[in-house]
Amino acid sequence: MSMTDQDAPNHGAAASAPPAELIAKLRAEMRGAVITPADRGYEEGRKIWNAMFDPACPAALLRCADEEDVAMAVRALAPTDTLIAVRGGGHHIAGYGTCDGGVVIDLGDLRDVQLAEEGSRALVGGGATLHEVDTATDPYRRSVPVGVVSETGIAGLTLSGGMGWLSRLYGYSCDNLLAARVVTADGEIVRVDEERDADLLWALRGGGGNFGVVTEFEFRTYPVDVVQVGEAYHLVKDAEEIEDLLRFYRDWTAELPRAATAWIGIEVVADDNGDLPGRGGQVVVGLLAAVVDASEEDGARILAPMLGQGSPTVSRQTPMRMLDLQHIQDDSRAAAKGLRDYMKGEMLVEITDAAIADIAARGMDLPSAASLFEMGTVGGAISDRGEMDAAVGLRNARYMGGYALMAETEEQVEPGIEWVRAAWRALLDGSAGGTYLNFSGDESSSRVLDSLGGDDAKRRRLRELKRRHDPRNVFRVNHNIDPAA
Ligand SMILES: Cc1cc2nc3c(=O)[nH]c(=O)nc-3n(C[C@H](O)[C@H](O)[C@H](O)COP(=O)(O)OP(=O)(O)OC[C@H]3O[C@@H](n4cnc5c(N)ncnc54)[C@H](O)[C@@H]3O)c2cc1C
Repeated sequence: MSMTDQDAPNHGAAASAPPAELIAKLRAEMRGAVITPADRGYEEGRKIWNAMFDPACPAALLRCADEEDVAMAVRALAPTDTLIAVRGGGHHIAGYGTCDGGVVIDLGDLRDVQLAEEGSRALVGGGATLHEVDTATDPYRRSVPVGVVSETGIAGLTLSGGMGWLSRLYGYSCDNLLAARVVTADGEIVRVDEERDADLLWALRGGGGNFGVVTEFEFRTYPVDVVQVGEAYHLVKDAEEIEDLLRFYRDWTAELPRAATAWIGIEVVADDNGDLPGRGGQVVVGLLAAVVDASEEDGARILAPMLGQGSPTVSRQTPMRMLDLQHIQDDSRAAAKGLRDYMKGEMLVEITDAAIADIAARGMDLPSAASLFEMGTVGGAISDRGEMDAAVGLRNARYMGGYALMAETEEQVEPGIEWVRAAWRALLDGSAGGTYLNFSGDESSSRVLDSLGGDDAKRRRLRELKRRHDPRNVFRVNHNIDPAA
């Protein structure tokens, strides 16, 4: 396995396999399929989005058919100390949707999405993808604020925040979580909302997979009409040109209205050209922005500085329906399944001059089309709430920035990870104190707590809630809050 210790998905405890008779009992009693290495579908089923974790071989995959199956699995496995990975959409960069030697509780068949109260609330199965959520809300011309790539799982995304085109207007996905059905560490099924067990709801709003298995999420939805999308691609010659674009991005985004969200990315055009302009090997800086619920004129006014900056090779504004916008990044290299991915990022309160100089220099020095830098705006409605309002943290951040490796070959992995880690260090200059856990490989417990923000009182609360809901750390294949600490 090429992953380093720091990136291995089995953290929190040594791998512990389930007793064979227990798997046989689950096979006999569960409505869903129990898939072991001897069964058809195992090879395909054990793999997740990130091919870095292809070597991980769970002893069994439990394809739960309903929440009773999930509860049965937790009741059976928890007392045995079997290593349990819970999988929603299987997209976590750190490989938490699988494990080596333990058991995967896979919610991939719990994908139903129901709309209630004239579409103002969405009831979403714990294994649904963003595509299913967006497709179900679209006929009502409404949306849940979610991420930007349609195959991502709603579960992992929401449990660690959930940022996308609507977050600056309406907050993180987890800020719009009204209630949840949860299988707790002792196998009970509970429904939590603001009245019943508000503490557990607080923890689910950003605390990751630490507190139980969510079988259903209940979200607030918002009316969303046409979105104006701006794109500008610059084939750059030198670091100075990248610096100019980064400075522009910093100054322009400082004044952006909440309806607008903007990303900047630096990458090398792949030999097959991918979806970028230019030839293989050229460095391209892309600016991508969306203005929600805006007329063409309003969109043009907001996007004009970005579309007119410098001399882009491509520069355009396109009106789109939200559902279409939610698919435009599906074919990007960063979203491609089956590459060996690694990512290290930082939440930023500012983009300093020193960071800009470093990012620009590294931009001209990207090792290959297998690496990229990207940064997006946060703030807006995310920052309206306080650090103690939910488990999710670092609400004062204005940007999320980071480097990613998308290696095609094993040889690219070790040097690529090293390069990403070295490049990330310059971002610490403007750090809000931690990272956005959804865009991060495995992290130490102290960095997990740093990234959940707040002060000692918040750390105490997170630990107390973990001790109350999962004292034996049954749910530990995640950005773990150690109950014993
Ligand atoms: C291509 C791509 C695009 C992305 N785009 C965005 C984006 O736009 N915005 C954003 O915020 N993030 C984005 N992400 C990050 C994404 O939000 C996280 O990777 C998230 O964890 C994915 O959720 P999942 O259910 O697919 O992952 P999984 O790997 O299945 O699970 C992730 C974590 O959640 C836990 N978990 C999963 N399901 C449940 C459940 N039902 N109950 C309890 N715990 C559960 C798992 O145990 C694990 O710890 C993107 C990731 C990728 C790979």
